[in-house]
Amino acid sequence: MIIVMRLGATQEQVDAVCSVIRERGHDPLPLPGEGRVAVGIPALLSNDERIAMEAALATLDGVSKVTQTTSPFKLASIEFHPEPTAVEVGGVRIGPGRFVVMGGPCSVESYEQFRAAADVVKAAGGTVLRGGAFKPRTSPYSFQGLALEGLKIIKQVAGETGLVSISEVMSADMVGTVGEYVDVLQIGARSMQNFPLLIEAGRSQKPVFLKRGPSATIDEFLLASEYVLNQNNPNVILCERGVMPIDRTYTRNTLDLSSVPVLKELSHLPVVVDPSHGTGVARFVAPMAKAAMVAGADGVMVEMHPNPKTALSDGSQALTPSQFEGLMGELRRLAEFSGLAL
Ligand code: PEP
Ligand code: MN
Repeated sequence: MIIVMRLGATQEQVDAVCSVIRERGHDPLPLPGEGRVAVGIPALLSNDERIAMEAALATLDGVSKVTQTTSPFKLASIEFHPEPTAVEVGGVRIGPGRFVVMGGPCSVESYEQFRAAADVVKAAGGTVLRGGAFKPRTSPYSFQGLALEGLKIIKQVAGETGLVSISEVMSADMVGTVGEYVDVLQIGARSMQNFPLLIEAGRSQKPVFLKRGPSATIDEFLLASEYVLNQNNPNVILCERGVMPIDRTYTRNTLDLSSVPVLKELSHLPVVVDPSHGTGVARFVAPMAKAAMVAGADGVMVEMHPNPKTALSDGSQALTPSQFEGLMGELRRLAEFSGLAL
């Protein structure tokens, strides 16, 4: 529910609205807007509550109208936050007017491997360095990541290169530890509905990069983001990384690029596309990365390995350093054409 105040409504009138909302057991959310003041109620109200709340508020002085919000998510909704959000981290801005490139290997394998990848990202103009230390693998016999040793490598290399770092955290009890070593917490696709993890990541106040679950609807995706936002953490970046395919013959997942304009219509949160997991095939990464920019995404996350043939995970979708540089050149030209800073 959103209570729109009249133009020129006084602070006392706004306070009176907030008091009535509080008296009825809910937290009011002031919604600053250009030329008008509004107050939101970011909670799911029962039908009876909604009718009673509307009756109590509609006749208060200074109230212009009381509107019902249609979406199940509130804090993620564009209705509650009409301006697009930019997440700022370590001097990098992820949001309107810019296109961020996050690059790096699927997994951190050694200092030398990660440093070599970071040097390529940096030299090519990328600003965020990715690499998994805790890997969600389908098989327990596959490489599981270097864990704490990997986190230490990430922190060291990010410090040496001046890149912003991002890495996955898989469980709520590891949020504190991972947060000590990296700038942005990645919540993997398989964890999108791990609610205790979302809450803990929200509490950490670190920026959260939330990947869409392989079978998640858009509403489920945005409701997952709501768990983080709800902890007073506004720094959420949504990531489209492909959904369950109907045909795995040619691609690993189906990259749902249409989710970009859909999410932009529904939400104010930045959207980044991961064409690497979205396709699973290195040669399809560049076309999808360029399409992501044209579709309105705020950036891409691309896997790149100094030597993909030796990669301990996701080698088949990793770009080589020269393919990554080539992609950056193409993105730079497209960005210029689109009036975006890269
Ligand atoms: C990853 O980024 O390496 C990863 C495991 O991605 P996803 O959670 O999208 O599968
Ligand atoms: Mn990967």
